[in-house]
Amino acid sequence: MVERAIDKKGVLRVPRPLQQLYKDILMDHARRPRNAGSLERPDLQASVVNPLCGDELSVYVTLKGEKIQEVRFRVRGCAIATASASMLSEQIKGLTLAEVLGMERGFQEAIAKREAALPEELEPLEPLLSVRDYPHRQSCARLPWDALRALEK
Ligand SMILES: [Zn+2]
Repeated sequence: MVERAIDKKGVLRVPRPLQQLYKDILMDHARRPRNAGSLERPDLQASVVNPLCGDELSVYVTLKGEKIQEVRFRVRGCAIATASASMLSEQIKGLTLAEVLGMERGFQEAIAKREAALPEELEPLEPLLSVRDYPHRQSCARLPWDALRALEK
């Protein structure tokens, strides 16, 4: 097991073996995205594009009461957008849309700032924090969140 370490400035240092593991996890989600596709009778759906990269992403959701029952993402885009949608899709079932969007700011901060940590509920998304080193890819990681926000009307 690889330990993570926080340095004196509160910066999370990711050891090299863990970086490789994160890369492997991202590539696995990009190659075999979870909850990919569409739903026949979604209660909500939205499509968004990321003009910076050219990614196109649609999200389909069925609700049970207020809670997300099923979610599917259809992505035509890069590995980061695909992996981000795949990983997020595994975390949001059973939550309300408001609960999910309540975690968005924490996610945005964590992928942009080294000193910010992910909200606890989103810790499985930690491999996405590698986009901190590639600011122009942050819009790709954020795209599934843009789509979920577009569901809210
Ligand atoms: Zn992209």
